[in-house]
Amino acid sequence: MISVKEALEIILNEIKPLAAESVDILSAMGRVSYEDVYAGRPNPPWDNSAMDGYALRAEDVSAAGPDSPVTLKVIYDLPAGAVPKGAVGAGEAVRIMTGAPVPDGATAVVMVEYTNIPSNTPTLPSPVKGKEKRKGSSGSVNILQKARPGENIRRGGEDFKAGDLVIKKGSLIRPAEVCMLATIGTPEIKVYKRPTIAVISTGDELVDINEEPGPGKIINSNGYAICSLVAEAGAVYRQLGIARDTKEALRERLEAGIKADCIITSGGVSVGDYDFVKDVLKDMGSDMRFWKVALKPGKPLAFGVIKGRPAFGLPGNPISSMVAFEQFVRPALLKMAGRDDIFRAAIAARLTKDVKIKPGRMTFLRAELAMETAGQGYHVSPLDAQGSGVISTMVRANAFIIVPEDAAGFKAGETVKCQPFDTSILQNRKTCY
Ligand code: AMP
Ligand code: MG
Repeated sequence: MISVKEALEIILNEIKPLAAESVDILSAMGRVSYEDVYAGRPNPPWDNSAMDGYALRAEDVSAAGPDSPVTLKVIYDLPAGAVPKGAVGAGEAVRIMTGAPVPDGATAVVMVEYTNIPSNTPTLPSPVKGKEKRKGSSGSVNILQKARPGENIRRGGEDFKAGDLVIKKGSLIRPAEVCMLATIGTPEIKVYKRPTIAVISTGDELVDINEEPGPGKIINSNGYAICSLVAEAGAVYRQLGIARDTKEALRERLEAGIKADCIITSGGVSVGDYDFVKDVLKDMGSDMRFWKVALKPGKPLAFGVIKGRPAFGLPGNPISSMVAFEQFVRPALLKMAGRDDIFRAAIAARLTKDVKIKPGRMTFLRAELAMETAGQGYHVSPLDAQGSGVISTMVRANAFIIVPEDAAGFKAGETVKCQPFDTSILQNRKTCY
């Protein structure tokens, strides 16, 4: 029997990131950049106003205050999207909107809240048709606050300059990266290809979901569970259905699976009379490995590379196959997709009750992980039924408690390591703040 860590190391050594493809930036969400992206233009593109207000020369308003207004001549109106009509001279101001380019001569913008319109200024029609009449786009304005040079001005290139590296190769594309790519006018990006995974279930006892299981038969739940795990890992599944427990049937399905980037089977990897997966995988390719991994649940595991494609033979029991997927297949798929952060995070949590384990295998206990009421830290409750076929506790669980190989258990109150597999524990709550 080899350890989980050893098996994982052997697997990850064989896994290579896939090739690149160009996709539009919205399709790149959740993918990994295959290229260093350099900005072709600066941001902001030019000095622009951070506020609605008046662009002016800071020195003209050095004496301004609530009780000592400085009156400036408003020479024109500058909405966002327009270009300055001329420089701001001594004693002058431009009525400016957020995002509009700062006119030459102006060294600061005073927010509209710190200004008022002298009572003798006429009301002018808005240049925008249908908008109500407003004051202040010409005539004069009282400035009621002094301004530091540069105040409320966003400098051209202060965010990044043309030629700057703005997204590194290997970065996960999130909404922030999409915003960056759109800002620099890049509609497409090279990302790692999304792995396509062939999912094959094995067993004479299996029927598909729309069939009524007759005597001795059960529904192929693993096929669906594994496809959903594949999708959750950001890969694309191809459900190839059920292979019967004969070498010929298995071989036929596996041949079909070789078109994918990776093959996953479930069932038939144990020591039963009809457990042919390892034999057929071996017949089909080189360097097939079959192990008993010191993992509970999920002891039997076949792994190898057939015609350059990794193949995983997961155990048949539903929870065993899910746990083995989480520990071995998910990191492999993330690595194929170009990720380097491929492991689930581990969280320290206070155990709510005693746990007893037969030592010898790294054990993943289904558990409910929750935040402490005060929002400080986490507590975790192991669920009662931990059998490898018990799906109801898998449904209730949002994390595994990780029990190391040599541990015989823990006492209530001890801090244990947990592996949340449902990210909502960290990202979503039913209450605000
Ligand atoms: P095996 O390793 O093929 O002997 O399967 C171990 C257990 O998992 C048996 O009880 C099987 O019936 C069950 N099993 C195998 N494949 C599936 C599947 N695709 N869906 C649900 N249960 C399965
Ligand atoms: Mg079987």
